[in-house]
Amino acid sequence: MSSCMLCPRMCGAERSNGQRGICGAGNEILLARAALHMWEEPCISGTRGSGTVFFSGCQLGCVFCQNYKISAECFGLPVTEERLAGIFLSLQERGAHNINLVSAAPYTEAVLRVLDRIRGRELTVPVVWNSGGYERVETLKRLNGYVDIYLPDYKYHSAERAKKYSAAADYPDIALAAISEMVRQTGKYVLDDDGIMTRGCVIRHLVMPGGRHDSIACVDDIAQNFGTDEVLLSLMSQYTPFYRAEEFPEINRRVTTFEYESVCRKVREYGFRGFFQEKSSAKEEYTPPFDLEGVLPT
Ligand code: SF4
Repeated sequence: MSSCMLCPRMCGAERSNGQRGICGAGNEILLARAALHMWEEPCISGTRGSGTVFFSGCQLGCVFCQNYKISAECFGLPVTEERLAGIFLSLQERGAHNINLVSAAPYTEAVLRVLDRIRGRELTVPVVWNSGGYERVETLKRLNGYVDIYLPDYKYHSAERAKKYSAAADYPDIALAAISEMVRQTGKYVLDDDGIMTRGCVIRHLVMPGGRHDSIACVDDIAQNFGTDEVLLSLMSQYTPFYRAEEFPEINRRVTTFEYESVCRKVREYGFRGFFQEKSSAKEEYTPPFDLEGVLPT
């Protein structure tokens, strides 16, 4: 890789020469955790867990990120492509319903090489691309045929909020284009007889404090752009003021029941299929420990 253009930042970092991009990624694949994860949506975690692999770095700059230790601080351990393949296969062997790649965009090239080697032969469970939604369509096109399930966020309708809280004023347009490409690739969602997803898109939206009007506008955007039959919608209430949230007093609290319920009402009015979260999900324990589990050689 010469000048990296993988994500919408298109920062052109020469990662193979040791430069790090805006996302924090350099020349090596950095992982913070690889484990069976029970906290995704029920159709993803199922009964045995989702084989979740947390990549270090992120192209967004969310001031409230619950995973800031790996996204902003880029905590992680370098692994080879061979080791990454071994991690995927070991999660499958332990019963994972799928391999869930979290914020893998900066490592797209390596992930594709690994999947080329093992997917469809040794690796038979679905591959999930778990993303903040800030992705380049050109990069996503390369994932066509490699990814079975997309799990993107759609965080903001308002460019102003996207700029203020995630340093990406172009987020709404970029994310809508990215999710369109994801839906085009997978088509309508498919669940197996046990309710486990085998193909499709689950669009996530996190309700933020003081943001219910923007959340309702996001639900409108999703309905207008993707309809209510093709995709599943996951409306999350787990916002917790992590990282730099205290610098922004209006988001330095959890969401109220009123705020969350007013967005739920809109989702129900549209008749989306999907998931709501118990208010009690807003706990710090929800954040997985980034302790290199599954990454350190045993
Ligand atoms: S993935 Fe990282 S290095 Fe590549 S363009 Fe985006 S921010 Fe820059």
